[in-house]
Amino acid sequence: MNKDVFIKELINLNITLTNEQLSKLEKYYEILVEENQKYNLTAITNKEEVYLKHFYDSLTISKIVKLNDQELCDIGTGAGFPGIVLKIAYPNLKVTLVEATEKKCNFLKLVIEKLNLKDIHVINERAEIYSKEVREKYDIVTSRAVAPLKHLLEYSIPLVKVNGLYIAMKSDITNEIKEISIYEQKLKIKEVKRISFSLPIENSLRTLIMYHKSEKTNPKYPRKYNEIKKKSL
Ligand code: SAH
Repeated sequence: MNKDVFIKELINLNITLTNEQLSKLEKYYEILVEENQKYNLTAITNKEEVYLKHFYDSLTISKIVKLNDQELCDIGTGAGFPGIVLKIAYPNLKVTLVEATEKKCNFLKLVIEKLNLKDIHVINERAEIYSKEVREKYDIVTSRAVAPLKHLLEYSIPLVKVNGLYIAMKSDITNEIKEISIYEQKLKIKEVKRISFSLPIENSLRTLIMYHKSEKTNPKYPRKYNEIKKKSL
């Protein structure tokens, strides 16, 4: 996706970026490619592909939620997707990036510093641990391409405020969704929106699924990592 097409496609997402925001994305791309040699952050380094599969794809979340100045936590952000891209596009967001791998966290801190981003923090921890300590804090929790939906729900929902939202960015969820109703009951959440669409140009399937949390999460969740993996709720 070249930059002209990127800008044009963003209009369909109701996003207009200033030149300053566009140049931040460009700089982000440059740092990503440069540091990728050290850190192995992404398999995608071709510029047009990064603009499509990382930048544009991250921004598709605006199809399902209106972002502005909420407090948002991105679980398993990797090299910053969608978290850093959202911070650039919506500068008033307060963003927390949670990432288990230390070297990725070092990269995230470098980007934050070089782009001079404010109100954005990096937490080098597994979400299962972070969500034991930090409860009911965020308006919105997101994750793109991180883990099976049921695992994500168990360690992400405790972080969401009552009346807040959890949004998973995935491709095909047909199989994952089958086991979810027990998670909805136990975690006091309800699916409120689900949209599927295809990414421009390459036409691969994307699904965004959004849950609303109606009550505080029982402190017994999330269970330990091994239990989450071994046994469903
Ligand atoms: N969201 C990014 C990265 C996806 S790869 C993107 O869409 O490009 C998944 C990332 O999640 C990896 O960087 C991995 O280290 C991290 N991760 C996986 N499980 C995690 C967990 N339980 N807690 C924190 N980070 C996790």
